[in-house]
This record gives sequence, structure tokens and C-alpha cells, in this order.
Amino acid sequence: MTQNIQQYDYIIAGSGAAGLSLLCYLLEEPVLQQKRILLLDREKKQVNDKTWCFWQVEKGPFESCLKHQWQHLHFYSEGFSSLLDISPYRYKMLESASFYSFCLNKASTAENVTVVNDEILKIDPDGKVYGRQAVYQGEYVFNSAKFKIPKQQYYHYLVQHFKGYFIKTSEDAFNPETPTLMDFRVEQHDDCRFVYVLPVSKREALVEYTGFSPEPLTQEQYDDELTYYIKHYLQLSQYDITHTEYGVIPMTNAPFKTHESARVINIGTAGGATKASTGYTFSFIQRQCAAIARNLAAGKVPVFRQAASKNKYRLYDSTFLRVLSEKKHPAWSVFEDMFSKLPAATILKFLNEDSSLLEDLQVMHSVDKSTFVRAAMKEVYHTFKESLP
Ligand SMILES: Cc1cc2nc3c(=O)[nH]c(=O)nc-3n(C[C@H](O)[C@H](O)[C@H](O)COP(=O)(O)OP(=O)(O)OC[C@H]3O[C@@H](n4cnc5c(N)ncnc54)[C@H](O)[C@@H]3O)c2cc1C
Repeated sequence: MTQNIQQYDYIIAGSGAAGLSLLCYLLEEPVLQQKRILLLDREKKQVNDKTWCFWQVEKGPFESCLKHQWQHLHFYSEGFSSLLDISPYRYKMLESASFYSFCLNKASTAENVTVVNDEILKIDPDGKVYGRQAVYQGEYVFNSAKFKIPKQQYYHYLVQHFKGYFIKTSEDAFNPETPTLMDFRVEQHDDCRFVYVLPVSKREALVEYTGFSPEPLTQEQYDDELTYYIKHYLQLSQYDITHTEYGVIPMTNAPFKTHESARVINIGTAGGATKASTGYTFSFIQRQCAAIARNLAAGKVPVFRQAASKNKYRLYDSTFLRVLSEKKHPAWSVFEDMFSKLPAATILKFLNEDSSLLEDLQVMHSVDKSTFVRAAMKEVYHTFKESLP
């Protein structure tokens, strides 16, 4: 049986954070206005399934849909607690439902964009996308839907796992100007565990229990830890849980492929946008997708290539993952060292991969040097060994 193949210039396979961000950047490019774009996802993207937080100095393209933003953040650990001024950064919270609706609204008003809900079964290297309902052919396919984390020797495979409660109180309980970025006072269970609290009003906050470890916890464990934290640290006994959020984000230094073939380009987590040492992805998706759109508009190959000056962050991330994996040094104290010794903005700049060499050295100087130097040397040795034929 021959199947009718639907032709497009660009197929965006997966309309989550990366797919929809890319769409917005493509629509901003005047020379791409005639390109026929297919936005393909199995879901309608109407559910508030994720809350993205990230920090930025400038205003971003999704500023109008932010739920909240802050200039100060609390940090808590047993040995150091402080309210940190993060200026010139703003810590921003974006609810996925607002983001999806903002981007899909743009899609619906653009004549060159077709939105289809279909399950993607397979993507061929020649740009053919096999859906359950049809086959689609693109000059380029931008894939964030299908990927496998490459399992290879020498790499670290941890996950950032979390569960959050959106809680509402009947009386004022929060200061919406001062969220908590990390609270390490919770039981560490020989692991890396912390809670963050993001109040969006005096009576509403997202309280999220987070771990960095090889495996996630059970739902009951998250529930027990969250209930304990809300009672003992937030001192709240009466509240409603209006919504919950759960997620598992890969934390690995294994290399992700930027493209599967000349026509199939990976974006988002599939394209390696998740920072291995923190799980933060949203900001890196913006860089990746903006660069891809710029490349397409300039008639260049639409692959995001990291500047050589950023390669250093792979070593930093791998080193931190090794420190976490080997558990020879408690993770909370790494963060305590950094936040107690350095301006918060320097740490945020470093984690956003925008730091100068001098700032890198300041961060390195703030942490336990013997632990990190040993871990870095092991990473360099493995990279060297891996590069041997
Ligand atoms: C709950 C949660 C909270 C997070 N919070 C943060 C945060 O605060 N800050 C941050 O920087 N990062 C955060 N992340 C990490 C990261 O930003 C998100 O995972 C982000 O959504 C990744 O974008 P993506 O486009 O790669 O994947 P997704 O947003 O997951 O998009 C992939 C899309 O592909 C579709 N799809 C998958 N398979 C198929 C198929 N077979 N057929 C058709 N469609 C398919 C899915 O429906 C989805 O829409 C969070 C992750 C989770 C899970």
C-alpha cells in the first residue's frame, strides 16, 4: 500500500519547551515566513505539567507569561543561611500552561504553521516522520520527542528527581518577595537532598522536594518529606494542595547527539540542553533554539554548535557529577561553600555557563580543593582513555 506523504519544510517533532521555543524563534525571522512548518505532538499541550524556573538579566521572549520573578533568594544549610541578592539576575517562574498557550496562540495566527496531534512512531534519517495517522516529510526535522540516553562506560548517570506541592493557605503565610532556592537543612540520607519554596503570593507557594541521586524515590517518600518540611520548617498545619508536580531530569555527562543525520536535528533534552550538573534546561533550550533559527535564516546548517570556550563546562559538570556519585564529600557543603563565600550572581553566572576564567577560579577556590582536584584529574584521565583508539 502506498501512503500519502505530507510535505513540509520544517517539522517540529515534539511541542514541549524546545519545540515551541524553536517555533517562536522561527516566526521571528522574516526570511522564514514562507516556510511550511508542522508542529507535531501526541498531546494538545493544555495541561500545566511543568513549572520552569531560570535566571536572566535581560527580558526574555516569554516575559509576558511569567508567573512571578524575584531578586532575592534564601539559602539554608546547617552552617550558613542568608537572603541573597542575585541582581543583576532575576529568578523567573514560568508555568508551562501559560507558555504552551502563548506559543500555540502564535502558531494559530501564523498561516505557515500546521498543528497536528499524532503519536510519532519513528523518524527516518531522510526526514520522514512516521505518525500513527500519517507520514510527514520535512527538509529538516527538529526532534525533542524521541531520544534514548546513551549508556556508555566512564560516564556518570544520576537524575534530578523532585515532587512539588502547590499549596494554598487561608491566612498569610509567605513573603512573595523572598523565595528559597535551596534548603539543605533537611535529612540528607547520605545523598543530596534539598527543598525549594517559591511563594507567588502571601497565601500560595510551590514547595518542592528535590534529590540528586542514581534513582528517584517512591511517591510516598516524597509525600512524607514534603509533609514534614511544611509542618516543621514552614510551620503550617492547615493548607490545601491545589496541584502537584513530579519530574525526573537526567544528570549525565554522556554526550547527546546534536543531530541524527543532516536532516534530523535534536533539540531540548534530546539535543543535550540539560545541564548535567544541575538539571536546569530551560535557559539552554533558549540559546540552542535561537541559534538554530538564526542559522536557518542565514542559510547555514541548523545545528547548535557550542562555542569552544564553553567546552570547559563539560569538565566542570563531569567533576561535580563524580563528586556527587562517589559521595566522598557531602553535596550540601559544596553549595554551602559557594553561597557563603561568593556573591550569588557569580554562582548563577557560572551555572549559566557565562562566567569568565577568573570567575571560574573564584568558584573553584570556594569549594574543597582536594576533593575537586582529585575528581577533575580522574575525569581528565577517563576522557584521555576514552579518546584512545
Ligand atoms: C516537572 C518538570 C519540571 C522542570 N522544571 C525545570 C525548571 O524549573 N528549570 C529548568 O531549566 N528545567 C526544568 N525541567 C527540565 C526541562 O526544562 C524540561 O524537561 C523541558 O520540558 C525539556 O524540554 P523538551 O522540549 O526537551 O522536552 P518536553 O518539554 O518534554 O517536550 C517533548 C515533547 O515531545 C512530545 N512527545 C514525546 N514523545 C512523543 C511521541 N512519541 N509522539 C509525539 N509526541 C511526543 C511530548 O508530548 C512533549 O510535548 C523540568 C522538567 C520537568 C519534567
